Amino acid sequence: MFIIFVFMNLHEYQAKEILEQHGVAIQRGRVLFDKKNTSKVADSLVLETGTEWFVVKAQIHAGGRGKGGGVKIAKNRKELDKVVSEILGMRLVTPQTSKEGKLVNQVLLSEDVYYSGKSEKSEFYVSVLLNRKTGKNMIMYSSEGGVDIESVAEKTPELIFYEEIDPLIGIVPFQARKVAFNLGLTGNAYKEMVKFITLLYKCYVSSDASLFEINPVLKTSDDKIIAVDAKVSLDENSLFRHKEYESCRDLREENPIETEARAVGLNYVDLDGNVGCMVNGAGLAMATMDLIKQSGGEPANFLDVGGTADAKRVETAFRLILKDKNVKVILVNIFGGIVRCDRVAQGIVDAYNNMGNIIKVPIIVRLQGTNSEIAKDIIDNCGFKVYSAVEFQEASNKIQDLI
Ligand code: GDP
Ligand code: MN
Repeated sequence: MFIIFVFMNLHEYQAKEILEQHGVAIQRGRVLFDKKNTSKVADSLVLETGTEWFVVKAQIHAGGRGKGGGVKIAKNRKELDKVVSEILGMRLVTPQTSKEGKLVNQVLLSEDVYYSGKSEKSEFYVSVLLNRKTGKNMIMYSSEGGVDIESVAEKTPELIFYEEIDPLIGIVPFQARKVAFNLGLTGNAYKEMVKFITLLYKCYVSSDASLFEINPVLKTSDDKIIAVDAKVSLDENSLFRHKEYESCRDLREENPIETEARAVGLNYVDLDGNVGCMVNGAGLAMATMDLIKQSGGEPANFLDVGGTADAKRVETAFRLILKDKNVKVILVNIFGGIVRCDRVAQGIVDAYNNMGNIIKVPIIVRLQGTNSEIAKDIIDNCGFKVYSAVEFQEASNKIQDLI
């Protein structure tokens, strides 16, 4: 079954700002956009931290940066300049990016927190996320931090722990203590971890996040517990009540079709398949995507055109769908309740006309509801590569013929 959740991902430096606002201890740093400002930004950081050992971290929306050369240590200003020049502006390829990689538009200049070198069992994995099966929040954690959590899950799943948290009750002190205990901590580090987990959970809830993943959480040689990395996704549907996060959106990191759709008020989510979908209503859109999959196709997108499927909106929707070069066929599945099917059919034909020759792929139109018979006539007689279908099975058979 398809489930679509829309997130806004943050850069590490933005995520750390939110953590800091909620009292969660972090590896301190400053974002740097232009290498001309390196010494000024480094001065201000050194004033706060007191160390001239730095780590420079590429800020892109992808993990695995360390492996790709996007995280480098500098032990003096000369090395710092060199490392900043290397990372800022590079195209960073990591196991989580495409082959082309991602352009690094900014770096995070941080204090080196591994001041006495890496020791065993000092890097942990902690994330807070929603367990959709139980409808509860969940803290997922492991003593095996700093490495790919996916490979830990594969090779040593017994080293990953889960703590479910009732969203109505919130985190209860014994739960935070259990996490710290299971991570093998004692003494001050144990106390610090209890505090870290409690504040991290509160931060996750009050920012309406879908994910806070901290990998690694570091136990420093003087038993402090701090977030060294932070991967955060905010729930897009909650952003209306978080104007403070509006400026965190980095459009350069987002899918351009989704950005364009948002600007015209269309609900569009890009997917990997080849059947473009235009549907009214999110529920019907989800059901349609399930049915496409069942009939052997793969949806290329989720698109809810909403209640007003007039020619203009239909045209905008077609243009968006067609920007995705994988689309081989478009399925329009619209229920005409308040909006009559004949109106929608006419809208589709008008949109097709207005767009000249740009539609090269066949379109299957299923219109059900008020005036669906008239609508079918309009589609059948329009003279374009547009096929009508009354029942979904018909539409599904046509998809199979056409892809
Ligand atoms: P990721 O590779 O995208 O997950 O980026 P991280 O922020 O997790 O950094 C990658 C790795 O760099 C971490 O797992 C650490 O081992 C290492 N690292 C990060 N900060 C420091 C630091 O201050 N000093 C040292 N020596 N290593 C660091
Ligand atoms: Mn990491």
